Amino acid sequence: MSGIDNLPPLRDVISRHGLSARKSLGQNFILDLNLTAKIARAAGDLTETDVLEVGPGPGGLTRGLLAEGARHVVAVEKDPRCIPALEEIAAAYPGRLTILSGDALELDLSKHLTGPVRIISNLPYNVGTELLTRWLDPIDWPPFWTSLTLMFQLEVAKRIVASAGDKHYGRLAVLAGWRTDARIVMELPPEAFTPAPKVHSAVVTLTRLETPRYPADARTLKDVVARGFNQRRKMLRASLKGLRPDIEDRLIAAGIKPTDRAETVDIERFCALARELEKP
Ligand code: SAM
Repeated sequence: MSGIDNLPPLRDVISRHGLSARKSLGQNFILDLNLTAKIARAAGDLTETDVLEVGPGPGGLTRGLLAEGARHVVAVEKDPRCIPALEEIAAAYPGRLTILSGDALELDLSKHLTGPVRIISNLPYNVGTELLTRWLDPIDWPPFWTSLTLMFQLEVAKRIVASAGDKHYGRLAVLAGWRTDARIVMELPPEAFTPAPKVHSAVVTLTRLETPRYPADARTLKDVVARGFNQRRKMLRASLKGLRPDIEDRLIAAGIKPTDRAETVDIERFCALARELEKP
């Protein structure tokens, strides 16, 4: 027994089911169930909440979520070898765990969930940023989830929570900061995982804002931010030149100097620029 539940320790589960970690699937498992319970707690009270977990693997975080009282967990796992191990957890928590076998990038996950929904995952690093971008980027806002509590490489976590002027500030920080409150809630050394990755990791919690922080059209904002940061060393009058012939006037109207670089422009002024670009 493991301490947080009556199921066997994860090392036993892994050896019994032959779950040797595969690099191609970004498999770095957390075997310390006290740590997985702590990550679950970092997401707040789960008792009235459905939780979406991407990449449960052998189920360490899944067990943390259930032990911490999550109303219902929907776990989507791409590696079919993990499914029998997850079914043992489902049997120990009748009616509270739904296992989906497949690729989180391809499945429509929201249809399996009842609100309010929190997304809590130790994500595979190779798909983490892609999933985060999708969750932050729907045309309609608010989205189906109320908060995201996700593991990233520390460098990526810093890019999510950065402010204008920080060296990590870029597209991800604008996208996250426009529609959520994002903060790093925990840092983890490589030894917290089996096998240990080369880099440090961090858990980021992003709590959605009911309306974006400043008004702007989502597509226009995304376009202008992408262009600005694609050539981050260039002045904005150069990197945005292709958008409008009078881009310098529009930058000035948004409170931005045409000689500024994207990395110094805060979210409020990017939104002001997006609104200027919507004008005829
Ligand atoms: N949650 C477990 C833990 O904390 O120990 C495992 C985390 S491991 C970093 C990432 C997991 O995501 C692996 O189990 C891997 O098989 C799974 N995975 C990788 N790509 C996936 C995808 N596209 N969709 C769903 N699961 C995926």
